Amino acid sequence: SYSHLKSEAYINEERQYFAPTGRIQYADIGFVKGNGATLTDMDGNTYIDLLASASVANVGHCHPKVVNAIKKQAEQLVHNTPAYFTHNLVLELQKRLTNITPGQFPKKVIFGNSGSDANDGMIKYARAYTGRQNIITFTDAYHGSTFGAITESAVSLNMRRNMGPFVPGIYQLPFPDENEKLPQEDEIAFSERYLDHFRLAFRTYLPPEEVAAILIEPIQGDGGIRQLPFYFVKELYALCQEHGILFMVDEVNQGLARSGKMWSIDHFDIAPDLLATGKSLAAGLPLSAIVGRAEIMNSLPAPGHCFTTAGNPICCAASLATLDIIEEEELMEKSACDGEYVKAKLQAMQEVYPFIKRVRMYGLNGGIELVVEENNQSANTDCANKVMTYLLNHGVIMITLAGNILRFQPPLVITREELDRALSLLEAAFKAYRNGEIVLDTNQPIGW
Ligand code: PMP
Repeated sequence: SYSHLKSEAYINEERQYFAPTGRIQYADIGFVKGNGATLTDMDGNTYIDLLASASVANVGHCHPKVVNAIKKQAEQLVHNTPAYFTHNLVLELQKRLTNITPGQFPKKVIFGNSGSDANDGMIKYARAYTGRQNIITFTDAYHGSTFGAITESAVSLNMRRNMGPFVPGIYQLPFPDENEKLPQEDEIAFSERYLDHFRLAFRTYLPPEEVAAILIEPIQGDGGIRQLPFYFVKELYALCQEHGILFMVDEVNQGLARSGKMWSIDHFDIAPDLLATGKSLAAGLPLSAIVGRAEIMNSLPAPGHCFTTAGNPICCAASLATLDIIEEEELMEKSACDGEYVKAKLQAMQEVYPFIKRVRMYGLNGGIELVVEENNQSANTDCANKVMTYLLNHGVIMITLAGNILRFQPPLVITREELDRALSLLEAAFKAYRNGEIVLDTNQPIGW
């Protein structure tokens, strides 16, 4: 079992200075190095990273091509913001982004520093373009931590404590959670039941002609890696078309080859009006973008969404290198193929360990839902926390979502050997849990 003494000493001192709001507590580990799908901590332990730094390291940690692009650009020009003048990488990156996003219509791009500000920006554009104020999102959504994005999110009450009022005009309707599917209900009946929430809202308190946009994560990330039903999304899109409501997607977590397609909305063959991307876009440097229909992106004047460092040359250089790597290393195809491999292995574990209720994999991108064995239903947070802790002590970085879901999101460059090693450690963790061998030495709340 790994020793974390140096990390713990460091973090104990850090706690005097680190505002608690800034970190979701999982374990006291601090990292000093990343390489491909591995991370090394302050105590010299090396781990396989099944978190990819929250889907930020799709092309792996410190990919040589990204590192070289950053170094080379740092010697040329570190900062110049497209908010005042331009620089020589803006055009190429904007062309690439409009080319790789769905929809054969004229598009425009605006840069930001985070997924949160991209989601805030989409609210602005949707309101300006439609002249309507209201936005609909889902329960369990995570869209970010700025005021607009927080108001669009509903994944944890702790996100909102003591800081309101929030942005008016944003409503959450229930996410079609497959745990709520009735026996005998097929996908259509299940979807219709959730579409009825929209129809009811439109009929009773939220006139559709006053709704600017609906924002979805086609595959919910922090909510537990859960894909929306196919029929549901198609019909929701049709409702938007019928009422002139913009259809916006948040691809911050699930975009850039994560789900086995370039974008998670590609699974549904829909071209959204506005798309937000970030996280892996510059392989860990702060860069986000909104890509949208040109006429919508033309609806606001400057400086309606300008940030000093957004789209700076180093981030753009890292991003161009990242997009090259996704193509050259065929990471989209690899994600899809490795995902199937992992899914089969996890399903085999499910046969042995009945507390694994569901295995969801969309590309190299999964949620493993754990329940109490006795009733096959209640969330098994104890199991999730213990399995996670075992893994953190044996060389795998994995975290929990929603209390009882294990998040499986390695860098897409992970090798087959690394995957096998991670999977066998995961299986060992399940076995140790079943045998009552894992003891938690914390009473602190873990996770979201
Ligand atoms: N949208 C989604 C779907 C996310 O998963 C996240 C981050 N977890 C964000 C937005 C916010 O991105 P950032 O933390 O870069 O602001």
